Amino acid sequence: MIYPPQHVKQILRTLQSREHQAFLVGGCVRDMLLDIVPQDWDICTSALPSQIMELFPGSRPTGIQHGTVTVVVNNHEVEVTTFRKEDQYQDHRHPDNVSFVSDLTTDLSRRDFTINAMAVSSEGDLVDPFYGMDDLNRRVIRCVGDPDIRFNEDALRMYRALRFSARYDFSIDEITKISIRKNAPSAQYLAAERIRDELQKILQSDHTDRMNEIAWMHLLDRFCTPVRPVPDFTDLSKLKKHAHIRWAGFCHVLKHAGWIQSASQLLHALRMDNRTIKICSTCSLLLDTNPPEDRIGWKKALSKYGTDSVECAAMIADWLNGTKYQKEVSSILRSGECFSLKYLAIDGKDLMEHGYSGPVLGEMLQFLLDYVIEHPENNKRELLIQLAGDHEET
Ligand code: ATP
Ligand code: MG
Repeated sequence: MIYPPQHVKQILRTLQSREHQAFLVGGCVRDMLLDIVPQDWDICTSALPSQIMELFPGSRPTGIQHGTVTVVVNNHEVEVTTFRKEDQYQDHRHPDNVSFVSDLTTDLSRRDFTINAMAVSSEGDLVDPFYGMDDLNRRVIRCVGDPDIRFNEDALRMYRALRFSARYDFSIDEITKISIRKNAPSAQYLAAERIRDELQKILQSDHTDRMNEIAWMHLLDRFCTPVRPVPDFTDLSKLKKHAHIRWAGFCHVLKHAGWIQSASQLLHALRMDNRTIKICSTCSLLLDTNPPEDRIGWKKALSKYGTDSVECAAMIADWLNGTKYQKEVSSILRSGECFSLKYLAIDGKDLMEHGYSGPVLGEMLQFLLDYVIEHPENNKRELLIQLAGDHEET
């Protein structure tokens, strides 16, 4: 059984001692009931933000328009949010207005799924007006209220449904599922980075087959050209859980199914960071060309494309074809053999002392690097200086 830590109990008791209602709510309740240590502890209360700030000196208004105050107790931060209700959502993501209410059930009713709409008091009593506990036991993701209304209010909830389904290996309630498919076009209103973050959580889970449902439900249509059949992402879960590796695998599957032209096109549209775009694009390029034939070839590839991209391509090639490229690459990395100018025993300054400058200097460094890649035992300063000789202007 998982219990809230001392500082969280202290916040609940302090609020209650002033006659405010206070409960643990949302993800932490769900995770406690699943016997999983929560990532963070959220509290909801009938106290108004100004009252919360007064009770806890040093607290910060982090989302005051939504009633959220970050309370700091013994160096721990906890988000404390006033019970609230939300009115119309005109942009398919944010409510136009929120207002504070004094009733917990009203606050729970604005939450997305029944398993996320439970609260627990400091005495351990569960408040569960939408039967979230039943759904936890049945391992089902179900909307609070009418799914059509809830997805139309906030289109991100469609991706969140699949994300929770992937994280806990839960199924999605049939009516909720049909509604996602129906409301999928409203994904166009979302900020691409919000979608990217949800997709990444699915990709980094143990249940990447949920991405098949995402594709099938038309939730990728904004970024891809959906052609039949829907690609199968199940085996992506066999790849290392690093974000860039799972993204590279995902892009590879999509590209070969004809859903995207290139990794770079998809990842730019999702506003991915430049490093991930570079690794995935280079990886895709490497996978589409003949792999190096020997150790020297791999070192040349490492030199030209960088460690991250080559490791990623080796990993994905092994995953696709059962090759053993990763072993070769890690053996090179472990050996300390030089494949980049950074590890060459001499640098530009050494060559300048021997009369080199400008493009000739660059060419000589590259020549020496190529030489050392083929003769790793000769990565020695004196020897390389001798090999370069003195440069004389012609
Ligand atoms: P995680 O462990 O991933 O943080 P979580 O359930 O805590 O999961 P958060 O995004 O941190 O998810 O949100 C906290 C709570 O706020 C949720 O449990 C849910 O009750 C509510 N919530 C969050 N996002 C939405 C949303 N888009 N629509 C309705 N309720 C939401
Ligand atoms: Mg959370």
